[in-house]
Amino acid sequence: MSLKLLVLIVFVLVYLYNLMLAVIHLRSADNPIPDNVKDVYDAETYRKWRAYHAEKARFGILSSTASFLIELALLAFNLYAAFAGLFGKNPITQVFAVLLLSSLAELLLMPFSWHETMVIEEKYGFNKSTAKTFWADQVKSFVISLGLMTGIGALLHWLWTSLGDWLILAFAVVMTAFMLIFAFLYPVLSRVFNKFTPLEDGELREKLTALLEKNGYRVRAIQVMDASRRTTKSNAYFSGFGKMKTIVLYDTLVEAMTPDEICAVFAHELGHGLHKDTLKNQIMTFVQMAVLGVLAWLTLRTPECFTQFGFDGVNAGFAMILIMSVEFALIAPLFGLLTNWRSRKAEYRADAQAVKEGYGAELISSLKKLARQNYADLAPSPLLVKLEYSHPTLSQRIDAIEKGGSAYE
Ligand SMILES: [Zn+2]
Repeated sequence: MSLKLLVLIVFVLVYLYNLMLAVIHLRSADNPIPDNVKDVYDAETYRKWRAYHAEKARFGILSSTASFLIELALLAFNLYAAFAGLFGKNPITQVFAVLLLSSLAELLLMPFSWHETMVIEEKYGFNKSTAKTFWADQVKSFVISLGLMTGIGALLHWLWTSLGDWLILAFAVVMTAFMLIFAFLYPVLSRVFNKFTPLEDGELREKLTALLEKNGYRVRAIQVMDASRRTTKSNAYFSGFGKMKTIVLYDTLVEAMTPDEICAVFAHELGHGLHKDTLKNQIMTFVQMAVLGVLAWLTLRTPECFTQFGFDGVNAGFAMILIMSVEFALIAPLFGLLTNWRSRKAEYRADAQAVKEGYGAELISSLKKLARQNYADLAPSPLLVKLEYSHPTLSQRIDAIEKGGSAYE
């Protein structure tokens, strides 16, 4: 069997796996709601929720099928090599050409994301994007992702031509550096998309500061992010290295919750901080990067990966596409199983922190509000929770909080 055929088969299998998940999800819509979350939606909202999820799930199948067919055609008919042929001989231009075609193919899917945001979310009252912010976001993310991918592709090309088999080690180091730079850059990047204003003085500011300081941190700033420009969903996070932290609250959170509920949400985030969950996640990400490095090395040293798809020789951009949509896509579900299991445990621990800080009841009411705002699934298929969920279900979390935050899966 040729390598190309094997690649195409794996590509189809990955699609079928995701299709299976989508079907399981659709079929779980009739699961009974557990007693402790029966009061999250009223009957009318629940009906709306079911309709929203069913419509989104069906549409998701349609858009991922379209995406699958486009990418399958690009791979099967050697279109990447044909397109790159129009761009001369310079290896970096060749890398850019392949990634440009991949980004343009994604552009073909724009009508789908338009429909999802501007039609489906609009119909159910989630959408806050105007046509203008929608297009501005599309343009920004097209430019940023193409730029970033070309940068990585060029780097990969350079590493391979100058280091050869030492690439694996260099790749892991460079990607980790990228990750760290991105962690530094994230606050800057999020400012491209959002506006931040300092939280005004008052009860909330005092309580949040006290909560952090009691646990040995210091507050650099507490900021409110204008997430309501795009979404009605709420969240909070804190960032910064060492003991100095910047707290970011979505304006949607500040508007919807009482100060004590915001403190409860934040005490949960604090729990993540105290248990170094972010650091642990970064270690897991490093392991993933190392795996990606091995895949990159294996791909680049196998000429058939390129010649069988119409290229004369190695193209680092095409290698990235093979790695991401075929090779890593095949092992990603296994990684997901492990990281999601760890993450769900970390969520229980973070909830336990909020209980310890005396915000158990407020955490439950805030989680219910969040679930309502986010239109959370109250009774997902247990199999999907194991495979895909980074958080326990609302019902499981409330159960654990009521038992004093000590119950693990
Ligand atoms: Zn959490």
